[in-house]
Amino acid sequence: MYNNDNSIKEILIVGGGTAGWMTAAALSNALHRGCNITLVESEEIGTVGVGEATIPPIRTFNQTLGINENEFLKHTQGTFKLGIQFINWGKSEHTYFHPFGAYGKQFDMVNLHQYWLAGRETDQVSAFDDYCMAWAAAKLGKFSPPLADPRNVLSTFEYAYHFDAGQYAQYLRRYAQAKGVKRIEGKVAQVNLNPRTGFVKDVILENAQVLPADLFIDCSGFRGLLIEDALKTGYQDWSHWLPCDRAWAVPCELKELTPFTKSTAHAAGWQWRIPLQHRTGNGHVFCSEFMSEDQACSVLMNNLDGDALAEPRLLKFKTGRRKQFWNKNVVAIGLSSGFLEPLESTSIHLIQAGIAKLLALFPDKSFAQDTIDEYNRIAINEIENIRDFIILHYCLTEREDSELWRYCKNMSIPEPLAYKIKHFKQYGRLIPREMDLFGNASWLAVHIGQGNIPDKLDPLMKYRNVQATDWLNKLKLAMQSAASQMPNHKSYIEKYCKSF
Ligand code: FAD
Repeated sequence: MYNNDNSIKEILIVGGGTAGWMTAAALSNALHRGCNITLVESEEIGTVGVGEATIPPIRTFNQTLGINENEFLKHTQGTFKLGIQFINWGKSEHTYFHPFGAYGKQFDMVNLHQYWLAGRETDQVSAFDDYCMAWAAAKLGKFSPPLADPRNVLSTFEYAYHFDAGQYAQYLRRYAQAKGVKRIEGKVAQVNLNPRTGFVKDVILENAQVLPADLFIDCSGFRGLLIEDALKTGYQDWSHWLPCDRAWAVPCELKELTPFTKSTAHAAGWQWRIPLQHRTGNGHVFCSEFMSEDQACSVLMNNLDGDALAEPRLLKFKTGRRKQFWNKNVVAIGLSSGFLEPLESTSIHLIQAGIAKLLALFPDKSFAQDTIDEYNRIAINEIENIRDFIILHYCLTEREDSELWRYCKNMSIPEPLAYKIKHFKQYGRLIPREMDLFGNASWLAVHIGQGNIPDKLDPLMKYRNVQATDWLNKLKLAMQSAASQMPNHKSYIEKYCKSF
């Protein structure tokens, strides 16, 4: 019975941006030349050309492919990222840090932030940021990888990268081609469906070349050539919760190699600052209902910390997700599957998550509907949890100085998010959900950073006699001292991963 070979023999990946080449690299690595993988892309159409900040799980993706970290950073002009600094989000002139890693070290079943809240009442503690190792290092411009020893404060942080996404795609292209992936340069002109099953049968290029396959991966970007144009899967629009719909992007001269991303809120959106080895990436994400494109461009150009190195580029998008991520024999990965604005650098992660799910639920030619449903169930949970985390940054604002912020402060929000906010406000409780990408520390950073201070302490605190403020402040000093001895981010890069 097991000898009946119904396995997928031909995979066609449509699109060669970050999504296309990450998918090609991972599938060629996992499938061991057992099936033919072809990728078609069009240089004339090009890629979206942004996407430079990541979150820590990207390291697992690279490790699974056997990629050496320093080599990869050399080839992608990469730098290290310890978190994101948010400026002017909760209120104007206010900053906080979303760290990668924990706040201090857990020492009791009652969470550390409860002790911090108790200390705050009597002014015995400083800003919450001061109790995490990632910020202790980031604010001094320091970086070295975390230690493994759990007793050491240097084990309490994580890191990700900033890199040139175009160079990352090229790097993965070389990797995938070395593992047998065939690349075809050409423009897809037509997608043919099997009239009986509605499955995609083949795609036809402008030069009339026909590319049939068993499984198609749609990495064609926002348009979704297969998942939408051909299969009419439908899109769930989230712009009422995430109203930003445009971004201007421009690189500028590198002035400061911070080991973190900066996100600065403006009147109708926010600006990113992402330092790479050879330049700083900048962009202004904004809502076109509340600011004109020209005005938004001026806001960006007037807030660069170095001379611009190119003309600014405008990108348009609609936040939301495809109604199904996997439909018949097409799996949408990357921008073709949906888009959450880049506030928490989650798009590349969603590509990685899509690939991981596809491998965990890899189909045969029968394309069992249960497999497809399970993929979609997980994918929807994942993206909705991330969506809610991003909305949290907007809806917790206290700003009322412009239309965008007044709208966000008063908008209705998804019920599961309202539930989480209510629990945190009552007793400072964090309510995790299945498939939550962002853990307690991330939610804590935004709740506290944006002023959602609990009304009461966790009732368990009444059973604690521990006077923890001394301990917290010792922890802070230990982190400061450890950070001061770490190498500078710039020197670390120059020593280990300087680009050619
Ligand atoms: P694309 O890069 O658009 O690639 C599409 C591919 O399809 C191209 O190769 C194109 O040639 C091909 N194609 C299209 N049509 C055809 C056709 N007819 N025939 C043949 N080929 C075709 N993500 C992060 O993780 N971190 C960030 O900091 C971040 N910042 C972002 C900022 C902005 C403003 C935006 C819009 C996105 C950002 N992203 C970020 C998302 C990130 O850029 C994308 O997730 C990532 O680049 C993947 O894009 P993609 O490969 O799906 O699409």
